[in-house]
Amino acid sequence: MQETLRLGHIAGIRIGVNWTVLVIFALIFVGLAAGRFPLTHPDEEPWAYAVAGGIAAVVFFLSLLAHELAHALVAQRNGIRVEGITLWLFGGVAKLLDEATDPGADLRVAAVGPLVSLALGAAFSLLALGATAIGLAGLVVGALWWLALINAVLAAFNLVPAAPLDGGRILRAALWRRHGDRTRAAVTASRAGRGFGLALVATGLAALVMLPGLGGLWFMLIGWFIMTSAGAEEQHAQLQHTLDGIRVGDVMSHDPVTVTGHLSVDDLVTSYVWRHRFSSFPVVDGSGHPTGLVTLNRIKQVPFGRRGEVSVDSIACPLAEVPQTSPERPLSELLTAMGGATDGRVLVLDAGRVVGLVSPTDITRSLELADLRRPAERNHL
Ligand SMILES: [Zn+2]
Repeated sequence: MQETLRLGHIAGIRIGVNWTVLVIFALIFVGLAAGRFPLTHPDEEPWAYAVAGGIAAVVFFLSLLAHELAHALVAQRNGIRVEGITLWLFGGVAKLLDEATDPGADLRVAAVGPLVSLALGAAFSLLALGATAIGLAGLVVGALWWLALINAVLAAFNLVPAAPLDGGRILRAALWRRHGDRTRAAVTASRAGRGFGLALVATGLAALVMLPGLGGLWFMLIGWFIMTSAGAEEQHAQLQHTLDGIRVGDVMSHDPVTVTGHLSVDDLVTSYVWRHRFSSFPVVDGSGHPTGLVTLNRIKQVPFGRRGEVSVDSIACPLAEVPQTSPERPLSELLTAMGGATDGRVLVLDAGRVVGLVSPTDITRSLELADLRRPAERNHL
């Protein structure tokens, strides 16, 4: 889901929200201020319910953020690049740009989220007990107990062994470690996800028919989301299986035409874009070391009249944001990286020099060739 509003950075990780977060915020706020709190703590003023509900809802989102930040920070520590965190309708998503290279890292990244939620649940319980002991107002205690409960529920729900939930990732890591086959593990976790999603949809439907209210609709929505994400993950895993054994060097475009950064965009267009059939050019410095990548899309954004004064350096995607690999790496590793900021281009480096470029077309072509090589193998997962 897209980021509607960027909130800033925490520990170098971009934090944003999607507008759908307002829906869940409103549901929680109304549920607490007009539902739960008046029931559990009668005899309070309406404004007190509203304040307690508002603060509890905000702290809930901070808890959610802590859960996602834990995923993101542990991922970074394990060499996995993080694009950012987005809060939305169904909670939070930490978007990772690479996949774990071993089951241990996969497990650590997945498990730390529910662990943080569990710890928060315990901390809010202790605070609630403390608040009771020193005789704070009933609503404060009520809000703290609700926060303890909701964090515990968040941890428990996320531990269900079904992808894309954290429990599904833990299952994948465990199966991966046991059988040494990441694809098989990922497919099993995704199928569990589809089953769990379907069960949630069915439960929601039954609740909608048999119980008053629209609570069942929520289960159906979450179930549907889990089912479709799990399906997409299974496809992704199958794709990776198809690419097994193919190296980056086998499919990359060799020795791409490089350009220097101080060139003007005008010179780039007349001397390179018109002369070569490529749509992206690695940018190098005076000694031939890469500094970034410039693509047709980026060139097009420079107004026609300003092409003479704008340098290639100023419009190029900086090297830090360009996915990089080397010729010996397995091609399957690139699938996640290719969704990045540079129109899906990946730079292939060898000893600090640009030796190739991989584009989505190269991947499509290699998939078609893989089909030719082993037509029947793909369904045996
Ligand atoms: Zn999580």
